Amino acid sequence: MIEINHLVKRYGNHMAVDDLSLQVEPGKIYGFLGPNGAGKSTTMNIITGYLASTSGEVKINGKDVTVEPEEAKKCIGYLPELPPLYTDMTVKEYMDFAAELKKIEKGKRAEQVKQAMEMTGILDVSGRLIRNLSKGYKQRVGLAQAVLGEPEIIILDEPTVGLDPKQIIEIRELIKKLGENHTVILSSHILTEISAVCDHVFIISKGKLVASDSTENLLERMTGNQQIELLLNAEKNTAEEKMLAIAGVERCEVLEQKEENTVALLLFAKKDCDIREEIFHTCVAAQMPILEMKTAEKSLEDVFLELTAKGGIEK
Ligand code: ADP
Ligand code: MG
Repeated sequence: MIEINHLVKRYGNHMAVDDLSLQVEPGKIYGFLGPNGAGKSTTMNIITGYLASTSGEVKINGKDVTVEPEEAKKCIGYLPELPPLYTDMTVKEYMDFAAELKKIEKGKRAEQVKQAMEMTGILDVSGRLIRNLSKGYKQRVGLAQAVLGEPEIIILDEPTVGLDPKQIIEIRELIKKLGENHTVILSSHILTEISAVCDHVFIISKGKLVASDSTENLLERMTGNQQIELLLNAEKNTAEEKMLAIAGVERCEVLEQKEENTVALLLFAKKDCDIREEIFHTCVAAQMPILEMKTAEKSLEDVFLELTAKGGIEK
């Protein structure tokens, strides 16, 4: 459905996209995961025909975006990083305007606009000025213009950035719903954001593809070794010594001390070991009350380190 071959985008001497190749099949939700500056937005802008590449090829349903940009654009609904909202329009006025821009047949406009607004849950704010909407609702309007006209492919650049937790959950639900009958690509610099909704993940770093795998496989590869954060009411050296004596513990880091008489530790388990119960028993025996125990979230940096350490690119 989307085929990218050896895509390059250069700004002066800087390679924003560096020989990127990937394929997108119909009917799945894909994630572009990578830190700020990785080249996600640049790639999305090239796929959607808004930016010219330096070299390489992008085909949408077999059509080259540089040769037939209009044809390619017809298949894609796009929500850019900064949605092009006209804030002095009402939601309905903006949607009608978007329908005109998308050259949706006059006779079908009203119905299609209604459908897109219904799907994104903005019918009840249709008369409001966009300027007065909450950030979450503005994002819904952006999504509504992206899905307008029922494009096969929907591309969303950091769709949940700047939203509060409740709005994030709502937008995620919406994206999942869209994924039921569209091919969706979304970008994020947050691992949990991508793993919550995507079937497949492309990890992009410095313009290069460093991993491509199902979300399930990727999480498994990354969560191979358990990491536990622990807050104990104990003396630092004793705590460290007792924890290191647990058979499944490979390494123990002392984290910054938050309160007096407590010690915060980060424990790294050996491969395939679940050390939680042993931690409990050891702490009871040593009379070190457990104040907190949780599985440590891996950062994107950890993920990159692990992936690159395990031998780089997999396809
Ligand atoms: P991401 O979306 O992953 O954060 P971008 O695609 O926005 O990354 O940017 C990739 C790289 O290209 C960054 O280093 C950025 O500074 C650079 N870049 C993006 N747009 C331009 C531009 N118009 N001119 C020069 N450099 C740019
Ligand atoms: Mg970006």
